[in-house]
Amino acid sequence: MSLFREDLANLPSYVAGKPSTDPAIIKLSSNEMPFEPLPSIQAAITEGVGSLQEYPDMMAVKLRQRVAKFHGVDSDWVAVSNGSVNMIEKILDAACEPGDEVVCAWRSFESYPIATALAAALTIKVPVTDLGEHDLDAMAEAVTDKTAAIIVCSPNNPTGTAVTHADLARFLDRIDESIPVILDEAYIHFARMEDRVRSDELLAKHANLIVLRTFSKAYSLAGLRVGYALAHPATAETLRTVGTPFGVNALAQRAAIAALDATDKVVARTDDVVAERERVIAELADLGFAIPRSQANFMWFEMTNVEPFLAAAERHRIVVRAFVGDGVRVSIGTPEANDRIIAAAAEYAKSLR
Ligand code: PMP
Repeated sequence: MSLFREDLANLPSYVAGKPSTDPAIIKLSSNEMPFEPLPSIQAAITEGVGSLQEYPDMMAVKLRQRVAKFHGVDSDWVAVSNGSVNMIEKILDAACEPGDEVVCAWRSFESYPIATALAAALTIKVPVTDLGEHDLDAMAEAVTDKTAAIIVCSPNNPTGTAVTHADLARFLDRIDESIPVILDEAYIHFARMEDRVRSDELLAKHANLIVLRTFSKAYSLAGLRVGYALAHPATAETLRTVGTPFGVNALAQRAAIAALDATDKVVARTDDVVAERERVIAELADLGFAIPRSQANFMWFEMTNVEPFLAAAERHRIVVRAFVGDGVRVSIGTPEANDRIIAAAAEYAKSLR
């Protein structure tokens, strides 16, 4: 007998990148930044420690104001959450009736089917193209009268590809305004592309669009758990209402404000990661790897048998993220870590010959 709903018995589980206690092993499995938080952010956290006897500001007024200023909107357009994954769960819980459908690309972020199942809904997985890109036409065609939400992950975890503004604008024009469209931009800070999505323009036009951002990636704050949604005020208000009470802790609120205050430095760091990404992918191309066009801080090796690649990575003391049967995702790390992954990939390529 289970204490929980029967339909949750087969819930897929989130496989986190394995932490290692061996300092010689480099973890490239969770798309984290290879840099610790900026000194100004660490100072903001330290300053907050002496007030931890108090609850945090439940409405995160200062943080929402700072986010709003960053995006050029009013703070009633902002809702914050305990990591963006918590916001995804809340949106789906609030949007889905039992038996409803949530449309997303696949492969995409593994939390989507879990959050969908928890909301008693069904995930409709629309395969990505051979280039690892969202097939937005097929996603629009997958919409039925049971569709309760659509998730577009751009850049997409794990394939790294991003949708263009023109393609997303066309897609949104096709979707009924009664269906929430979640645009998950966890990795957008690493996108360097023509026609990058201008979410502010799309938000102004589409009241059903919800844009998600996180401090976990570009801002080096994965350990603090803070993310946010941008949406029309009525939607954002609902997201604040259904939010976990005091869900964003006081240190996270302070750190996130300091992170936005340090935008220039954060951008410079993302530039470093992007430069490494381009170097690594060019070297891998020379070795014969066809990596999808990554706009994120990771890259995707599509392969059905992941074991030999994992073994090569292990020999070079790197932990990567395997999706059995589909491929391997590797984060961009320090130049030294990246050299190790190139060496491991070269060894793997040689073993196939
Ligand atoms: N969206 C995507 C696409 C992700 O890959 C992740 C983290 N792996 C998240 C959201 C969640 O980020 P967090 O909860 O740390 O904000």
